[in-house]
Amino acid sequence: MDGRVLVTGGAGYIGSHTVRRLLQNGYKVVVLDNLSKGHTWAVPLEVPLVIGDIADIGLVAQTIRQLGVTSVIHFAAFSLVGESMSDPRAYYSNNVAGTLRLLDAMRVTGTSCIVFSSTAAVYGEPARVPIDEDSVLHPTSVYGRTKLAIEGMLEDYAAAYGLRYISLRYFNAAGADPGGGIGEVHNPETHLIPLVLQAASGRRPFVEVFGTDYATADGTCIRDYIHVSDLADAHILALQSLDKQQKGVYNLGSSQGFSVRQIVSTAEGVVGHPIPVVESGRRSGDPAVLVASNVRARAELGWNPSMTDLEMILRTAWEWEQNRPRT
Ligand code: UDP
Repeated sequence: MDGRVLVTGGAGYIGSHTVRRLLQNGYKVVVLDNLSKGHTWAVPLEVPLVIGDIADIGLVAQTIRQLGVTSVIHFAAFSLVGESMSDPRAYYSNNVAGTLRLLDAMRVTGTSCIVFSSTAAVYGEPARVPIDEDSVLHPTSVYGRTKLAIEGMLEDYAAAYGLRYISLRYFNAAGADPGGGIGEVHNPETHLIPLVLQAASGRRPFVEVFGTDYATADGTCIRDYIHVSDLADAHILALQSLDKQQKGVYNLGSSQGFSVRQIVSTAEGVVGHPIPVVESGRRSGDPAVLVASNVRARAELGWNPSMTDLEMILRTAWEWEQNRPRT
């Protein structure tokens, strides 16, 4: 814990929650964010915020040297599946080429530890659920392919140059730090839980349910929603584990699946009134069921997600929806 942790994308949703947890655990932090998606209000005042790009090797190297950075947690990326299909160049450039340059800046400064934000999207349509880390990797989106390419890059850099890395494959991040003044704000918003709650608060007329003819109990897609503060905890554990292991890949999910209809009905209980829903067709590229096995993260990282109750997750998201900055 001697040096400082560089958090790329630390002004974003999961990044800003991880910055809070790092500070609570006594780490020194610097955030690098180009603010294309992130928000300055999400970065605590006591944390240095470098506004710039991961692809700017000079800036990253200078930041590492001047602020005594010894490890990196790398969130900065584009992360919308639909957008990745219509604009793959942006995704390969920002995610893959950007990360290559970040790793170059780490090499020239002799920085060897990185925790990387990967995704369940690397699996594509799973052959079996729950999904463990040895499942077939066959992403169905450009977004998933960019994250898988980076995982490969990390593995090759570990073998050739001694890089130490952990890839964390997130399932569906949800909720907000209770009372923390931070939460999910995407523009445009595409994620189910914020859209459901915006329909509840009247900021949207309704929420669409994408597909009611899946082979699931109620016909809607099943996902594994994991509280963002539990995700943040896993990053601290991953960083600590790099003292003992050179590399690792872990699923981060709750191991429980909830359908779109279950999300809507549980949210109705939380907000105390019906939420207007419109049933629509399937969204392209959506697998029917994505649920993680989190056995490896529990056993090897000592991760123990504590906010796994769906109603509790939705309560924190609802509190945020009512208090968030209006953009
Ligand atoms: N979904 C939906 N309506 C929306 C947004 C999402 O029915 O307006 C569904 C989507 O098809 C998926 C689930 O909700 O089955 C979670 O989608 P989200 O975009 O939140 O996360 P993803 O699973 O794509 O990472």
